[in-house]
Amino acid sequence: MAKLRVELFEEAVGQDKFVLGGKGFGLVEMTAIGLPVPPGFIVTTDVCKEYYAQRGKVPGGLFDEIRKEVSEIEAKTGRKFGGSEKPLLFSVRSGAPFSMPGMMDTILNLGLNDLTTERLAQITKNERFAYDSYRRLIQMFGKVAMGADGEHFETILEERKKSAGVKMDIDLSPKEIREVVKEFKEVIRKDTGREFPQDPHTQLEMAVVAVLKSWNNARAKEYRKYYGISEGLGTAINIQVMVFGNSGQTSGSGVGFTRNPSTGEKKLYGEYLSNSQGEDVVAGVRTPVSVDKVDQMLRRELEEVAKKLEGHFKDMQDFEFTVEDGKLYLLQTRNGKRTAQAAVKVAVDMAKEGLISLEDSVSRVEPEMLETLLHRRLDPSAGDKPIAKGLDASPGAASGVVVFETDEAAKVGGSQKIILVRPETTPEDIKGLIASQGVLTVRGGMTSHAAVVARGMGKPAVVGCGEIEIDKERTRFVTKSGVSITKGETITIDGTTGSVYKGEVRMVDPEPSAELNELLGSADRIRRLQVWANADTPEAARKARDFGAQGIGLCRTERMFNAPNRLPIVRAMIMSRNDEDRKKHLYELFPFQLSDFVEIFTAMRGRPVVVRLLDLPLHEFLPPLEELLVHMQELKERGAPAGEIRENELILNRVTELSEHNPMIGHRGCRLAVTYPEIYEMQTKAILKAAMEVAAKGEPPRVKIMIPLVAIAGEFTYLRKVIDEAAKELFKETGSEIPYQVGTMIETPRAALTAGEIALYSDFFSFGTNDLTQTTFGFSRDDVEAKFIPRYLQLGILEKSPFDSVDGSGVGKLVRMAVDEGRKSKPGLEIGICGEHGGDPKSIVLFNEAGLNYVSCSAFRVPIARLAAAQATLTQKKTSSTV
Ligand code: PEP
Ligand code: MG
Repeated sequence: MAKLRVELFEEAVGQDKFVLGGKGFGLVEMTAIGLPVPPGFIVTTDVCKEYYAQRGKVPGGLFDEIRKEVSEIEAKTGRKFGGSEKPLLFSVRSGAPFSMPGMMDTILNLGLNDLTTERLAQITKNERFAYDSYRRLIQMFGKVAMGADGEHFETILEERKKSAGVKMDIDLSPKEIREVVKEFKEVIRKDTGREFPQDPHTQLEMAVVAVLKSWNNARAKEYRKYYGISEGLGTAINIQVMVFGNSGQTSGSGVGFTRNPSTGEKKLYGEYLSNSQGEDVVAGVRTPVSVDKVDQMLRRELEEVAKKLEGHFKDMQDFEFTVEDGKLYLLQTRNGKRTAQAAVKVAVDMAKEGLISLEDSVSRVEPEMLETLLHRRLDPSAGDKPIAKGLDASPGAASGVVVFETDEAAKVGGSQKIILVRPETTPEDIKGLIASQGVLTVRGGMTSHAAVVARGMGKPAVVGCGEIEIDKERTRFVTKSGVSITKGETITIDGTTGSVYKGEVRMVDPEPSAELNELLGSADRIRRLQVWANADTPEAARKARDFGAQGIGLCRTERMFNAPNRLPIVRAMIMSRNDEDRKKHLYELFPFQLSDFVEIFTAMRGRPVVVRLLDLPLHEFLPPLEELLVHMQELKERGAPAGEIRENELILNRVTELSEHNPMIGHRGCRLAVTYPEIYEMQTKAILKAAMEVAAKGEPPRVKIMIPLVAIAGEFTYLRKVIDEAAKELFKETGSEIPYQVGTMIETPRAALTAGEIALYSDFFSFGTNDLTQTTFGFSRDDVEAKFIPRYLQLGILEKSPFDSVDGSGVGKLVRMAVDEGRKSKPGLEIGICGEHGGDPKSIVLFNEAGLNYVSCSAFRVPIARLAAAQATLTQKKTSSTV
């Protein structure tokens, strides 16, 4: 039989985190670079995989191997597991390849029993510490490894503290803790029908099984689903000699960040809680002190550690440490979760410090993270006064109605904006956090669960807000100054300042920071793909240009018709019964179109602008048929004049004539223009006239006119002629000319299949992947997201909605094919994409590989696309150099 993978920290160097788990990897590396790590060993992820492959059977021989490693450590430390002389105790911690904070189980103080506890009390001359450690073991072990009800332990502890008149666990007298231990054992007996095991090896084996099982507990699964972590990875188990942070006032435990995880500032950051075990800091039960306030020597030592860690891991580290009787130990390190602001600053600073390359710095920031930097924050001029203040744990602002219970949050979060308000959060609250806009907690520090998880999700969080008190029934909270907020009331939280406001506070768009601009500047130097923007209004065009768009890839002209003073004209135009009427209404729209185009061309200062000619789904612009029918009934009932009835009848008949069964694949786009070419004729004239006006004053715009929804080359050639003739007419009228191009959208499968033929006539292509996805799948883009896609995702039929991330094997195949065919006919043909996928980092990888010239996305996503395009280039380089 193959050797089971159980390895001492010092033996496992060189293996990756997929084998060792993230925590194990950190421990192995820290041991290798000489940091003070308590000795231990790792049960690798292979064991977990085997356990699940055998449907929950412990792999044969595993426990023997564990015993062997325990003996090695006994030999090394000169102590004995379960021995009465200097007892050796272990912690057993889960550690998956990707951090899943608090989602799986951990058991500390293994090896304590009635005998060793007594012995520990004698050796340390600290009875309280020894029995408190034992109490913690029985509590954790009882709950996690034996299935006792955790609430029962909590109740006993609470009652004991109340009767003793103390607030903290640690303030109970040794005698009282001994009593608690007795009662805890009784809980296990009652809840499980078994005794708490006295044999340390039995404890260890049961703890290992409990951790293996915890890989598949409900909250871990939920977390993996949210973060897209594969179910097949498994967890490793770290078994490590215990050091005690709770053995007196010269001991303690803490969490450190090598840089500030909120702002990215290069300064040791963290929290320390004296006389405590690690979990106390993370759980936020007591509020710890900042590492700025610990004694000089410890601070200097921690700063040394931070430097060494960054020098080795080349990234910001989040580490856990324990001080036992004045000696520092490191228990964990990992790349620190950080806010978007910090991610950008750390990446840029580390490149400047020479710790990482420019390419690395660009790869370090998840493009999606930028979203939070580009979104709204509280308007400083709003003038609202906060009703309470807590810690500024995760930046950004959010408004929503107050919900106190996680289950309720998960239920209502889909349909309304909520703020989850909790005394503190635990891993059980993950689904509530996912469903909410932001979180507010009464207790806990900057490294508490709520703070860490919210930062990871990019959601605003205010934690440790002791100024509010939640009532027992969880129906309201009251602030120190007496403001009462009931469940369902709206509040606003600002995670950048830690403030809480009543009601909804006005918000503003953010300005990109200097570091973000530097990072994007580096990305621009790396990327091959250009990034353009979809913008239909002059304001959107200006915003797009400010965010770095190199052109406009899609200006949807039908969106320009939505304004209240334009809609009636559009309606009248559509309803026209003859060409003459239609033309009359069309030319009423001309001045509006002209002025919009002038502003857009001006805003883009000579950069390319693709104006898509009208693609107007008729049903969006027609009066609803039902309303007209009801109106007709009313007219008749109140005996309206015959003329009025006749007029309504005409409208009704026309709407009936025009209405369609499937408007999204009906008389839309170029099909409508083939029927009524005068529409494109008017638009062409407005576009080119505007371009000439702008060119006369400054930089000539680069005009690209685009025809939507083409499926047949004949549609394109017919309409191109309409456009060219309109242009000729205008040039003749005005006596001047301006260059322009006419291109097509590729948004039907047939256009992709016949791209070679279409390219003979078209100056450029732009993929409309919204419609291309709709028509390739045969899924209605307006209906599916709410109706059946969620079920498909749940069953794994689809991994992501194809409307969010381009479908590589279907739609992606059409894209690659159309690019090849198009460029075969017309070498160097310019090709872009302007569907929503243009701003999706995953899709950008595909578009980059397919050889597109640009992606075009909404203005706010332009920075995300710039970064994603650079990362796509780097990935492509890496894969082509390894092939
Ligand atoms: C598309 O279909 O991808 C597209 C950009 O056009 P619209 O969304 O306006 O149909
Ligand atoms: Mg379209």
